[in-house]
Amino acid sequence: EELRRRAAALVHDVPDYPEPGVVFKDITPLLADGPTFRAVVDHIAGGAHGPVDLVVGMEARGFILGAPVATTLSAGFIPARKAGKLPRETVAGAYDLEYGSAVLEVHADTVWPGARILVVDDVLATGGTAAATIELLEQAGAEVVGVSFLMELTYLEGRSRLAGRPFDALLSY
Ligand code: 5GP
Repeated sequence: EELRRRAAALVHDVPDYPEPGVVFKDITPLLADGPTFRAVVDHIAGGAHGPVDLVVGMEARGFILGAPVATTLSAGFIPARKAGKLPRETVAGAYDLEYGSAVLEVHADTVWPGARILVVDDVLATGGTAAATIELLEQAGAEVVGVSFLMELTYLEGRSRLAGRPFDALLSY
């Protein structure tokens, strides 16, 4: 509860960004506060259900949280990158944006069948990014053992797209 309060105080609301009517949750003040950043990473790592082989973080803020969670768990880290950034063979998942769609990819040979994976990102909004990531990992035969966020924007109902997989969010709005 103490961590929740501290973390929430370090997330800044930015009205009308990136477009009018949207309130953007800016987590950079939290990242800049060493003890709180550390405690958030420990909270996410501590919420893992059983052993984790790999942490997958989504470009770009999922990298910032996911990599330290991986080292805390002595798990590997896989960046889920936007289309076209990875140099070798990939597996891909598509997701809808307000206009059109986007693709996330991981290197095909970094995920193995049966790998136990924790998916980490900063914000669950509509759930499109997380759903695409889960889909591509399961397509590669991996097991998504948890999906963990710093915060959930509950009014966008993204959780409904995670189909009951173990879910955690420290903060909810
Ligand atoms: P979704 O696919 O769930 O609609 O959007 C989630 C993705 O967009 C995440 O990767 C997250 O980083 C980013 N995102 C959406 N809204 C916000 C926001 O208000 N603040 C931050 N920091 N990221 C956001």
